[in-house]
Amino acid sequence: MNRDQIRAYLDFYQDLGVTDLYRRQPSAAPPPTPPEMTKNIPESLPPLIPPGDTLAQIRADIGSDCRRCRLCEARNKIVFGSGNEESKLVFVGEGPGADEDAQGLPFVGRAGQLLTQMIEGTASKEGIPIKRPDVYICNVVKCRPPENRTPQPDEMEICGQFLFRQLMTIRPKAICAMGSTAAKALLGTKDGVTRLRGHWHKWHDIPLLVTYHPSYLLRQYNQEAKREAWEDLKKLLHFVYD
Ligand code: URA
Repeated sequence: MNRDQIRAYLDFYQDLGVTDLYRRQPSAAPPPTPPEMTKNIPESLPPLIPPGDTLAQIRADIGSDCRRCRLCEARNKIVFGSGNEESKLVFVGEGPGADEDAQGLPFVGRAGQLLTQMIEGTASKEGIPIKRPDVYICNVVKCRPPENRTPQPDEMEICGQFLFRQLMTIRPKAICAMGSTAAKALLGTKDGVTRLRGHWHKWHDIPLLVTYHPSYLLRQYNQEAKREAWEDLKKLLHFVYD
């Protein structure tokens, strides 16, 4: 590993809030030979979760004026997430839009209103006693992409470390990835939502269901996508709350 790579790892862990690194106790085993040294090293290190991580700590680690990627240039407010921090269900969207950027809260604009209706409408129809504040809602990127463009891979990767920690901390019974950006970020797949939706996948052993993004449903005149999204919600809510 060269100096730049070591620097990148240290910066990465520092962003995660890890400020102390410890040398392992010397072991009695003989030092590994060069091929053994490299064979078990993963291509990229998984994010290290600080012990006793909390949502408050993750929010504090992001900081009040995060400048880790270019999205900081045009954003007004960082949108961390909202809802029940011990929820059994987490919804993950793409990134804040104009209303969310102004208020610092996820899914408060038109797409958010539709999401609320979908959660609360399905729950009430199915006899499941939950409201929107009972679930947790967040996004892949925490700052609004200019003109609501799709977040770029490096922005998703940089901000993805915080999403990773949010999900690991909440450890819900299920995750709902809304739209292709969330599906891509959490499943690492290039498959489109049409193919992925309605099926159970896994994110680090946690069941994950993909569905359409509410903004897509707002644009869709095709009633079929809306019907499918309601079916997905029904499946999700019964799995989590039955
Ligand atoms: N779209 C998203 O993906 N997230 C929001 O918070 C709002 C709209």
